[in-house]
Amino acid sequence: MIPRHGPSEERLLAYAAGVLSPPQAVVVATHLALRPAADAWVRRLQAVGGQFLEETAPVALSSDALTRALARVETDAGEVKRPALLNDMPELPEPLRRYALGPWRWIGPGMRVRDVHAPRDGDCRVILLRIDPGRETPRHTHRGDELTCVLTGAYATETDRFEVGDLEEADGEVLHRPRVVSDQPCLCVAALDGQIQLDGWLGRLMQPFVRL
Ligand code: ZN
Repeated sequence: MIPRHGPSEERLLAYAAGVLSPPQAVVVATHLALRPAADAWVRRLQAVGGQFLEETAPVALSSDALTRALARVETDAGEVKRPALLNDMPELPEPLRRYALGPWRWIGPGMRVRDVHAPRDGDCRVILLRIDPGRETPRHTHRGDELTCVLTGAYATETDRFEVGDLEEADGEVLHRPRVVSDQPCLCVAALDGQIQLDGWLGRLMQPFVRL
C-alpha cells in the first residue's frame, strides 16, 4: 500500500482549534477536502473541543467559531450556503474556489505559479504551482515552513512520493528537489514562508529569477 502523507498531529490540532496561520489553514483545509476520513477526524475533534469549552469557562468565542456554527446550522437545515466562487478554476477543491487568483507567471521551463489571494501571515502566503510531467524544481531548502498539497498528478522527492490529496511538510532542515512523476501536469497548492533557497552554485545564480 502506498503510504498516505498528511499534516502532523500538532498541525491538525492547531487547525482544529482555529489557531493555525491562515495560509497554512487554507492548505490543510484543501487536504481535508480531498481526504474525507481525516476531515471526519478533525470535525470530531472540533466537536469535542466545543463541548469542552462549553463545560469549562464561558469564554468569548471567535467570530470564526460563530461562522462555523452558523454554517453547521444551515447544513442541518438542508440549506447549505456556499461562499461566492471567485476564480476561473472550477477543478479546484472547494476551499480554494472562494479566493481570487493572480495571473500565471513563468518561473522556469515547464513551471508556472499564480498567487491565491487568501489571507497572508507576514511573509507566508498561498500559491498554486503547475509543473509539467518529467520536470523538477531546482534543489532547494526553505526559510520557514513549506506546506504543499497535491491537486492533480504526482511528484516524488528523493525519499517519498506524493499523490493527489497528499500533503508534504518541509522546513529549513529539508533539502529537496520535487520531480513530477505523473503523465499529466502536477498542480499543487502551497503555503510558503519567504522565498525558497536554491542549492549549489547554479542555484545561487538562478535565485534572482525564481521568485515564487
Ligand atoms: Zn520545497
